[in-house]
Amino acid sequence: MPNDAIRITGARQHNLRGFDLTVPRRAITAFTGVSGSGKTSLVFDTIAAEARRQLNETFTAFVRNRLPSAGRPDVDLIENLSPVVVIDQRRLGGNARSTVGTITDIYTLLRLLFSRAGTPAIGESNRFSFNDPAGMCPRCNGIGRVVLPDVSAFLDLDRSLEEGAILLPGFGSGRYWYRQYADIGLFDPDVPLREWTGQQREALLYGGRAAARLGRKPPEDYEGLVQRFTRIYIHTEGEASERKQAVAERFTTSRTCPDCGGHRLNEAARSVRLHGLTIMDCTAMEVSDLAGVVRRVDAPGAGPVVESLTERLAALDGVGLGYLSLDRPTTTLSGGESQRIKTVRHLGSSLTEMLYVFDEPSIGLHPHDTERLTALLRRLRDKGNTILVVEHDPDVVAIADHVVDLGPGAGADGGEVVYQGDYPGLLRSDTVTGRALRRRLAPRSGPRTPAGALTVAGADRHNLRDVRVEVPTGVLTAVTGVAGSGKSSLVGVLLEQHPDGVAVDQGAVAANRRSNIATYTGIADPIRRLFARANGVRADLFSPNSAGACPDCRGLGAVYTDLAFMDGVTSVCGACKGRRFTDEVLKHTWNGRSIADVLDMTADQAREAFDDGRIRPMLDALVETGIGYLALGQPLNTLSGGECQRVKLASELQRRPAGALYVLDEPTTGLHRADTGRLVDVLDRLVDAGNTVVVIEHDLDVIRRADWVIDLGPGAGHHGGRVLFTGPPARLAEDPHSVTGAHLRRSLA
Ligand code: ADP
Ligand code: ADP
Ligand code: ZN
Ligand code: ZN
Repeated sequence: MPNDAIRITGARQHNLRGFDLTVPRRAITAFTGVSGSGKTSLVFDTIAAEARRQLNETFTAFVRNRLPSAGRPDVDLIENLSPVVVIDQRRLGGNARSTVGTITDIYTLLRLLFSRAGTPAIGESNRFSFNDPAGMCPRCNGIGRVVLPDVSAFLDLDRSLEEGAILLPGFGSGRYWYRQYADIGLFDPDVPLREWTGQQREALLYGGRAAARLGRKPPEDYEGLVQRFTRIYIHTEGEASERKQAVAERFTTSRTCPDCGGHRLNEAARSVRLHGLTIMDCTAMEVSDLAGVVRRVDAPGAGPVVESLTERLAALDGVGLGYLSLDRPTTTLSGGESQRIKTVRHLGSSLTEMLYVFDEPSIGLHPHDTERLTALLRRLRDKGNTILVVEHDPDVVAIADHVVDLGPGAGADGGEVVYQGDYPGLLRSDTVTGRALRRRLAPRSGPRTPAGALTVAGADRHNLRDVRVEVPTGVLTAVTGVAGSGKSSLVGVLLEQHPDGVAVDQGAVAANRRSNIATYTGIADPIRRLFARANGVRADLFSPNSAGACPDCRGLGAVYTDLAFMDGVTSVCGACKGRRFTDEVLKHTWNGRSIADVLDMTADQAREAFDDGRIRPMLDALVETGIGYLALGQPLNTLSGGECQRVKLASELQRRPAGALYVLDEPTTGLHRADTGRLVDVLDRLVDAGNTVVVIEHDLDVIRRADWVIDLGPGAGHHGGRVLFTGPPARLAEDPHSVTGAHLRRSLA
């Protein structure tokens, strides 16, 4: 039956070794394998990319020319593809107005319900829209917050205008805006502001009458700094540039809108009620509670809306997000939460025969939540869709109809299909994944003794209610609990109350597109010095900021094209062919390698090449944290969250401090099970060096190896936020009432 499978011939993208593969349609296929084995290259960069490209081909030339040129993946042929939806960890974009309610379209339905069944009903549903002039609060334009200039940050009173008293960018001595103040004869540019009269300072800031009273007539177009700043940076038309936004943030404060109290809606919309609740009351509720309210509505004509709403709310609850409220800004959601929201958006769709591609959907999920996630994947499949999942969590891989294991190793040592078949077969297979799944990390033989304790007291962030808990020092503690139970909130308070702690999080490492692994970890400098010494030239010749860098891409090896409405496109620099430096510089070698060769090496390879005392230990740390497969020159902005976290962890290991508090959020993210043991070893080393390590973690192997567990729950949102258990994991496993304990027990069986 030719249409029952996607057939791939000659997959050669990145490290893939030209294999053929058949993937069943209307089924769930899990892709496993160590990091760097080629899962992303196959699933995202080949299958999904080709599906997109083929779809683009069906558009007219006019449309095609306006789409980023996707590029043809390196594959001979792929047959029987469908339109693809990629559901990854990338945060939901969105502006200040984007909320859980708007992004899921649930708010649209709620507006409809209020416009039909509210008292008084006000007709059109856009009167409840804070994105529509008919509904938005006129004071804050539907944002819920008002932004005010932070005047205290504008001036340095100890300086004169000439010395740069105006701290706003573009107002420094000699700059354009500077002249509008210093050259108009109203102010003496050489006198420090502190020595000015109050009226002069007021005239500088606010213009207006104060300026008129200075004795000399101000120019017609004179504006005080506040007025000018507001016009340039706050009341801008359209999207402000990143630079402008950064300035605006530095010189403004924002507070809740005094008119709508942050609820974004105008007076009329705020006064309509349904079962005594306003629409804001409804959006502030947790989704699982709102479902109960909606079910009780039985106004005439509201039936279909109630039905759709109920279904959508249940879907959110079904992915373990019932603890969110509809008014939650999407910008505050974690990567895992964002991914689950995207999933719900597609569950609601009635399209079938689609191709859905997931990137590690288990991230952020307690084993208890994972059960609900797998139910969801099955539902998506049963609607007639094809599901591809890149995943390390055995609970997810276990429900796959088909498993493709890539390997045997990473990079050049990977790129082959080492197993395909069902999950029981994978468990028996002699592959790295098969062996890792069979092996369980043994519990710690004797938990280490805490050196002392850090007290968290009166914690009441988000859903925490006056929580008090002791975090033991000098040991490894796992914070556990279902998604939304309050783990991140508790750890946030811990860091706030003990501000010497270091959060090794998954956030991007640097905004700078030029930073790469070598520069961030500090090995770039000693490497450049080795090159300089070997060739008798200056070390900075090998820096991308020097004259030795390719002038076209300024040492990036790639050029980045901004597209107004879409993700930008990165392509290899044509001038240096991705080599980053001028031919002159590339002629200088060290042990037969050019600087470009070294930047192309993975940490694994570099470890064989360098034994320099300032380079080697850092390379060891990169390998130990499980990212030896990354190239030294790989830009940080191309790393996944988990990889970013491991780069930071490796750098921390090198600083070898003692007595510090380290907090890590799900350090197993993106890690193959074969590497979990090594990760725990790294954490152990931090502890054994006298540090305190706290991890938020769902991986049962890691929890079992911790010295101490703090379990939160019992549920999510206001059903959670309590400390249910503290103690060693062995005791938690014996607790007959604990959900986490039950999973620990099961994993030991
Ligand atoms: P996985 O998803 O299994 O971790 P990847 O597919 O990301 O593995 O990587 C497989 C190999 O392909 C690695 O050696 C990696 O360095 C290489 N690779 C990945 N992305 C790129 C890229 N954009 N350019 C060149 N090589 C890449
Ligand atoms: P966990 O880390 O266990 O998944 P969190 O600490 O992230 O849980 O969340 C606990 C509760 O706090 C949830 O109800 C969540 O919706 C809420 N919450 C978390 N972050 C925010 C935020 N930035 N704004 C409002 N509520 C939040
Ligand atoms: Zn308002
Ligand atoms: Zn170049």
